[in-house]
Amino acid sequence: MRIDDLPRTSLGTFPTPLVRARRFSQELGGPTVWLKRDDLTGLAFGGNKVRKLEFLVADALGKGANVLITTGAAQSNHARLTAAAARHAGLESVLVLRRQGPTHTQGNLLIDQLLGADLRMVEPGEDVDAAMQAVAEELRRQGKVPYVIPVGGSNALGAVGYADGAREIQRQAEAQGFKVDCVICASGSGGTQGGLVLGTRVFGLPFAVWGMSVSATRENLQKTVARVATEGADLLGAPPIRPEEIVAYDDYIGPRYGIPTRDGIDAIRWLARSEAVMLDPVYTGKAMAGLVDHIRQGRLRRGQTVVFVHTGGTPALFVHNRRLVQGG
Ligand SMILES: *Cc1c(COP(=O)(O)O)cnc(C)c1O
Repeated sequence: MRIDDLPRTSLGTFPTPLVRARRFSQELGGPTVWLKRDDLTGLAFGGNKVRKLEFLVADALGKGANVLITTGAAQSNHARLTAAAARHAGLESVLVLRRQGPTHTQGNLLIDQLLGADLRMVEPGEDVDAAMQAVAEELRRQGKVPYVIPVGGSNALGAVGYADGAREIQRQAEAQGFKVDCVICASGSGGTQGGLVLGTRVFGLPFAVWGMSVSATRENLQKTVARVATEGADLLGAPPIRPEEIVAYDDYIGPRYGIPTRDGIDAIRWLARSEAVMLDPVYTGKAMAGLVDHIRQGRLRRGQTVVFVHTGGTPALFVHNRRLVQGG
């Protein structure tokens, strides 16, 4: 199956801009950094999940579904964008959210409620997959047709969304006349990084893909990313991808997922003041702290070109407001 032959529902605005972070690169004194603005995908405050959802929603519609079910933490960007994608396509949504991190009506939770998503809070240790299946069963009894999307939208179709994103980066770089050495992204449920890696294989693209973990250890992230990439590869008839082939770093997570770090906050301020670009404290701030550290360690050098994928997460800025201005 070719990517262009898979059904796709238009939810966002593509291609997203690929822009040079001129001042930031100068201040860094290392490689030239370009920003792939996937925070500007256009749907309900944007973010990376829109690329995945274009394929997932098309699959749901093809199966006659009328309710999307997914899961995440209380402030999940993925859950917010699934609720938005559902409304965009004329569907309903049920969000099974872990009661973890801030749960007041701000950021993503505020938007979930404005979108009229059906919110089901579960306790942190609970089995969310079982909870989603129970919701699906409940909906079927009401005569509805549910469609369950895994955490982060990271499965074969989600990976395909980012394989397409990798091709988009390459086309834009070619059009602007430069060669990409390395693409860097925040990596959580693995679909973004896995999809980018899959894209480099399927389309023969020349760049490396580095993932900055926001939660898992390096080894576990490598396994997750390779699994999701391989699910996508199976769908596209490409060879599997092994965990050892995945480049992942777990040095920038801080205490744990969802807790802002000092370096992440510094990166947010730096990008804001040099480029007027807003990163977020849960994903992109930490990933950018990773990029900065790699330059300081001499692992990325002058003369090289790095594309940093801004995966979104903007609503979280408003949830963590106090930490951001006091400096964590
Ligand atoms: C979900 C998310 C990520 C991580 O993407 P995965 O595909 O889950 O690895 C990165 N940044 C933001 C803002 C996200 O919402």
